[in-house]
Amino acid sequence: MLSTNIFLKVIDRSIPAQIVFEDDLVLAFRDIHPQAPTHILIIPKKEIPTHDDLTEADQAILGRMHWAANQIAKQLNLTDGYRLVINCKDSGGQTVPHLHMHLLGGRNLGWPPG
Ligand code: 5GP
Repeated sequence: MLSTNIFLKVIDRSIPAQIVFEDDLVLAFRDIHPQAPTHILIIPKKEIPTHDDLTEADQAILGRMHWAANQIAKQLNLTDGYRLVINCKDSGGQTVPHLHMHLLGGRNLGWPPG
């Protein structure tokens, strides 16, 4: 079930987060309940509730989110590989209504996901 948009408070620094990457379009920080030794959330600074809400004009943001993942993986030495996940809406397992990409690494990840 989608809850309130806590990530807006991370963006405006009204709640603390361990930030690992930031530029004009995106912010990335450590997940508060990590599911792997490395678990980073990469979010757009623009308010986009879900992947389903993307428009053609948001393509640069999506590209930047992937570029940020590439840079963070290098920064955190995820040389053996990693996984990028975007959960979309309730059936996709999304709980925070602000688009975010999970970057998971540091262990062997199973497939298929639950
Ligand atoms: P979702 O289930 O929506 O794909 O992922 C939301 C993620 O946000 C979860 O992995 C959850 O642990 C993380 N999360 C929720 N609230 C906070 C918070 O206040 N700070 C941080 N750093 N992560 C959060």
